[in-house]
Amino acid sequence: MTTIQTRISAVRERIATACQQAGRSPDAVALLAVSKTFDADAVAAAHTAGQIAFGENYIQEAVDKITRLRHLPLVWHCIGPVQSNKTRLVAAHFDWVQTVDRLKIAQRLSDQRPVQLAPLQVCIQVNVDGGPTKSGVVPGQTLELARAVAALPHLRLRGLMCIPEPAADFAAACAVFKRASALFDALNQAGLGLDTLSMGMSADLESAVASGSTMVRVGSAIFGRRN
Ligand SMILES: *Cc1c(COP(=O)(O)O)cnc(C)c1O
Repeated sequence: MTTIQTRISAVRERIATACQQAGRSPDAVALLAVSKTFDADAVAAAHTAGQIAFGENYIQEAVDKITRLRHLPLVWHCIGPVQSNKTRLVAAHFDWVQTVDRLKIAQRLSDQRPVQLAPLQVCIQVNVDGGPTKSGVVPGQTLELARAVAALPHLRLRGLMCIPEPAADFAAACAVFKRASALFDALNQAGLGLDTLSMGMSADLESAVASGSTMVRVGSAIFGRRN
């Protein structure tokens, strides 16, 4: 096995253990492999280990990889900031966008989604810990944005994602993740029918899984340290 394949097995093991400790089914949490800054060969190696879903932050870098790997049945998630001038590329090449935090961007993505493609799967990014420089809608405005996004014709709202600041310890991380989880539950009680709560990365996936994450986004634990 290659290093990437060995690391993917180890990450899957971590997810399974975290699910077991939380009394959740081992298939309750999906693994998104975050391949930003790594090349198409690294993605292909991860695919050999059975990995299908990949996350990318930088649009042009991602489009190059998506195009090169067109022959593989991969699912691509945009997890980086999306500016207005990039929505057309995102709508044409990605399957998911997890970083929608403004209606204007969602409207452009819907308008620009090519009609022959399935609806673009969308998560709303929420700023759960109030980080001042961070993107993400504030929790109090999430329901209103979610309703507006859910009404757009070429998008399908799937859930929420968050990127909290690193926490001091497991309990502190859980406290923040549980805020996202409570918001997710509230939106579902309001009838939005969400199935995806994207939270947890290489360093904190255990606390995210303990707090209700349904998708962890793992980069360095799979591909190694980024420059
Ligand atoms: C880079 C990135 C990740 C992966 O981070 P690691 O610590 O390498 O696992 C996850 N989510 C987002 C939004 C990222 O930008």
